[in-house]
Amino acid sequence: MDLSVVIPIYNEEANIHALYHRLRGVLAPMQVAYELIFINDGSRDRSLELIRELAAHDPQVRYADFSRNFGHQIAVTAGLDVSGGEAVVIIDADLQDPPELIPALYAKLQEGYEVVYAKRRTRQGESAAKLLTAKLFYRLLASITHISIPVDTGDFRIVSRKVVAALRQMPEQNKFIRGQISWIGYRQTYLEYDRAERAGGATGYTYSKMIRLALDGITGFSDAPLKAATLSGFLVSGVAFLVMLYTLYARFISGDYQPGWASLMISILFLGGVQLIAVGIIGEYIARLSANVRQRPLYIISDTNVGGVHPPPHAA
Ligand code: UDP
Ligand code: MG
Repeated sequence: MDLSVVIPIYNEEANIHALYHRLRGVLAPMQVAYELIFINDGSRDRSLELIRELAAHDPQVRYADFSRNFGHQIAVTAGLDVSGGEAVVIIDADLQDPPELIPALYAKLQEGYEVVYAKRRTRQGESAAKLLTAKLFYRLLASITHISIPVDTGDFRIVSRKVVAALRQMPEQNKFIRGQISWIGYRQTYLEYDRAERAGGATGYTYSKMIRLALDGITGFSDAPLKAATLSGFLVSGVAFLVMLYTLYARFISGDYQPGWASLMISILFLGGVQLIAVGIIGEYIARLSANVRQRPLYIISDTNVGGVHPPPHAA
C-alpha cells in the first residue's frame, strides 16, 4: 500500500459523495495503491450508511464506526492506527481541504521529507470571530512552546509511515496531533493553499470543542501557564507585602487611618481572584494527568471492515 487517506466524519452526509468522487478523480491518475479510511465519529445523520454503500462497491474504501462521538483528534488517531500506507494523508471531509493538493503533497514527500503540511494562505467562509481566535491561538501557542508548531496550519498534511509509527508510541489521551507531529521532528516542510468554504452541512466544531482543543494544545506542549500562575502569585504577594507595611505605618506611626472596608474588599477580591485562576490552571493540568493515569482506550469501534488488530465487523 502506497497511500492511505484518513477522513474523520461527523455528520457529513452532504459531503461524502462529492468528497469520494473528488478523491477518486485525484488518486486514480496517480498510479499508486491507495485506500480511503473513513472514521465515523458517532454521526447522527446518514453518514455511516453512505460510507457502507461506498465500501460495498469499492474495495479501496475502509471504514471504522465509533460507538459514539469521541472527537476529531481521536478519529484521526484511529485512522492512523488502522492505516497501512507508506504515506498517509489526513484530510477533512467537508472539502475545505482540497483533495487536488494531494499529488503535490505526495510528490514533496518523495523528495525525502517525513511530513509535508498544508498551510492556509487564505481562509474563506469562516466567521470573523473564528478567524481572529484561530490567529491569536496559533500565535500564543507558538510563543509559549519550545517546539515550533507551524502557525495557520490544521491537520491537513501528508506524513510518512515513520511518523505514524512515532505517533502510535505517544500515549497521551488528550491529542493535539499537529503539535505531536512537530514534536516528533524529522525533515518537515509545507505547501501553501487557499482554504475553501465548507461544501455542505454545518461545522462539527462547537466553541466548547475548540476551547478543549486549544487547552489540549497548550497543556500538552507548554508549562508556561503554570509558570505564569507562580509568577502572578509572587507579584501579588509582593504588592500585598508593601500594602502591609503601609498599613502598619498608618496604624502605628502616622496614625492616619480609616476603618476602611474598601481596601479590605479590594484586597480580598483581588487575592481571591488570583488564587482561583492559579487553582484553575493547575486543575487543567491535573485533569489531563488523571485522564492519562486512567489509561482507558482512546476509542471504541463498534463496526469496521478493516481486519487485523481491531474487533471484527458486526453483521453490516
Ligand atoms: N469531526 C469529527 N468529530 C467531531 C467534529 C468534527 O470527526 O466531533 C470531523 C468533521 O467531520 C470534519 C473535520 O473533523 O471532517 C473538521 O471538522 P469541521 O469541518 O466541523 O471543523 P472546522 O473546519 O469548522 O474547524
Ligand atoms: Mg471544516
